[in-house]
Amino acid sequence: MEFIPVNEPLLKGNEKKYLCECIDTGWISSEGPFVKEFEQKMSATVHRNHGIAVSNGTAALEVAVQALGIGEGDEVIMPAFTIISCAMAVTKLGAVPVLVDSDIHTWNMNVDEIERKITSKTKAIMLVHLYGLPAAVDKVLELAERYDLKVIEDAAEMHGQTYNGKPCGSFGDISTFSFYPNKHITTGEGGMVVTNDDELAERCRVLRNLCFRKDVRYIHDEISDNYRFTNLQAAVGLAQLERLDEFVARKRAMGKYYTEQLKDIDGLILPIEKMSYSDNIYWVYGIVLKSNIQADNKKVQKLLAEEGIGSRTFFWCMHEQPVYKKMGLFRDESYPYAEYLARKGFYIPSGLALTREQMDRVVTGVRKVIGSLTGKAL
Ligand SMILES: *Cc1c(COP(=O)(O)O)cnc(C)c1O
Repeated sequence: MEFIPVNEPLLKGNEKKYLCECIDTGWISSEGPFVKEFEQKMSATVHRNHGIAVSNGTAALEVAVQALGIGEGDEVIMPAFTIISCAMAVTKLGAVPVLVDSDIHTWNMNVDEIERKITSKTKAIMLVHLYGLPAAVDKVLELAERYDLKVIEDAAEMHGQTYNGKPCGSFGDISTFSFYPNKHITTGEGGMVVTNDDELAERCRVLRNLCFRKDVRYIHDEISDNYRFTNLQAAVGLAQLERLDEFVARKRAMGKYYTEQLKDIDGLILPIEKMSYSDNIYWVYGIVLKSNIQADNKKVQKLLAEEGIGSRTFFWCMHEQPVYKKMGLFRDESYPYAEYLARKGFYIPSGLALTREQMDRVVTGVRKVIGSLTGKAL
């Protein structure tokens, strides 16, 4: 039985052609011409003046947070349920993540909880969009304006998504993308910071590259890192970007198909197809077990693997991370919906290269596994 991996990217466009161009011309480093072209085209798709390509989405968040001047003791509000990249970008600088619980329906942060978390130390809100539906952008922007806070938009999972007709990646002071292979656009590893602010953009370019001083090379006044992005990555990115609309349409069709095939199963919370502000783009196809199912996501992952089907559990909450407990952060804090999603959520194969036959096998596997857990033949 062929094992169906949880993700396989689609690299059937101009990727090979552009990569060969890099090799034929010898341009493989971050100095190559595709990097600027990719920065320009990617930032233009989200109506931003500047794009700064970096080595991955985590680096993009680190650069963005540092560029905003966030440091020691500053507080940044973010979801409790997210990838650790969000929190690490903040704690690395000695700043403090302040967490909010999730909305159990959209899996994004419950923006109604943000206001009571704002203190005199709050500097920014990290607006993270998860799994295919944007978080409530308007509410976050309104709060940021009222309390004079910066907004960092983590659009890592949102290539091609819009909120009330405007592109994700265009909101707040600065936005970030990832191009990891399970995102709608991939460069293998890669990320980008986008902004309209000229000074912020310049600051990001400096932070991306070891904080070389402008006037004299090899003289440094500050610490940063080498987060450069190569011409090889940009070659793949350009080819991927040419197919963005097609990829988004394909993901939407896949999401709808899974929902049609799974919606009659009692005990599963499936992704919401549309909200008033957006249609789901299904970064991955997530499923949350309802409380009538006596199993957690790890158990389901194991049972699916026995059927030859790859899956992944959802993110683990920030306040439950061993590293942060050791640092004495988030003591006695609890976020019940975030904790529920982390224990009961998982996603099934949903990469762009997935075939209809594979999806049908996944559906059969999910029905069998959930049936075995509920004692019903599905
Ligand atoms: C993937 C992802 C990241 C991190 O991107 P990497 O390229 O893997 O470092 C950050 N935030 C979110 C929401 C993501 O999904």
